[in-house]
Amino acid sequence: MNVLVTGGAGFIGSHLCRLLLSQGHDVLVLDDLSTGCYENLDGLEDGKRLRLIVDTVNNAALVDDCVRQSDCVYHLASAVGVRLIIDQPVRTIESIVGGTETVLKACSRYRRPFLLTSTSEVYGKGSKVPFCEDDDCVMGPSSKRRWSYACAKALDEFLALAYWVEMRLPVVVTRLFNTVGPRQTGQYGMVVPNFVRQALRGEPLTVYGDGQQSRCFAHVEDVVGALTRLLECPAARGKVINVGNNEEVTIMGLAERVKQLSGSRSEIQVIPYEKAYGEGFDDMRRRVPCLERAGALIGYRPVRQLDDILRDVIAWERRKLGAGSAV
Ligand code: UDP
Repeated sequence: MNVLVTGGAGFIGSHLCRLLLSQGHDVLVLDDLSTGCYENLDGLEDGKRLRLIVDTVNNAALVDDCVRQSDCVYHLASAVGVRLIIDQPVRTIESIVGGTETVLKACSRYRRPFLLTSTSEVYGKGSKVPFCEDDDCVMGPSSKRRWSYACAKALDEFLALAYWVEMRLPVVVTRLFNTVGPRQTGQYGMVVPNFVRQALRGEPLTVYGDGQQSRCFAHVEDVVGALTRLLECPAARGKVINVGNNEEVTIMGLAERVKQLSGSRSEIQVIPYEKAYGEGFDDMRRRVPCLERAGALIGYRPVRQLDDILRDVIAWERRKLGAGSAV
């Protein structure tokens, strides 16, 4: 098949492209290289099996052309990372809402199956454990910029599901929980690459808040495997599906694990949220996915657990740091 991957030069997108190529598909990537980067696709672009177009998903004429050439569409292009979302709220909202609308319109025109990567952020401040797909989304106020991301992604979900209901466009909405692995940049605040880099450089590991907030980290290869199987699964159409890992760890526990697995002597430094993100920041205490729906639809079970994931990221960052590593 000819597959379009928007955001294919990003962290998750580039892993998805590798998987699709290995499955024998030809891949067209549309990416503006804003948070993605060319290095993520290094060695893959050959103008035949993988082609890269550098432009935004807000370019409607181009999106139309790309979708027309493709048999199905994975829509990953999006602003990412809490840091970027707080620093650039206009770009966040416009790229998420406008981009998805443009891609969906073209998919509807040519009847192309569409997969959206939404986010566990849409569950917001809900305190239920675990989060199931039909649970309420509990948003914070619009004065707190972080919530713009969750609201924009929730609107994307509504729109995709509306295309299914009104036009029977085959859409699959996936909600990705914290996804990590090689090639993720710490530049936008993500905790795992940050901690690993800090540990390898012998710098303090910066734990925000009291460190008792928790997350569940999934390996990107488990996640992209689920994405391809979900888009191929007729029963997944018109549904929202959590994708992630349900092994929970506190952020303080994560810092300790990273130190241990990397053999680092770095200190752990606790930093108040206000200092890390500025005034008026809201964090989520716990975020655990219910994976029953993905299990029922495609037999999904994450294969790689936290220690495997951290070892993988540490090995990757070590290679990148080379001789500059502090440990
Ligand atoms: N965090 C941290 N130190 C960092 C970066 C993040 O303690 O250097 C915390 C952050 O406040 C949150 C958790 O780690 O509680 C996960 O943050 P991330 O930005 O990776 O993802 P989120 O789940 O917040 O989208």
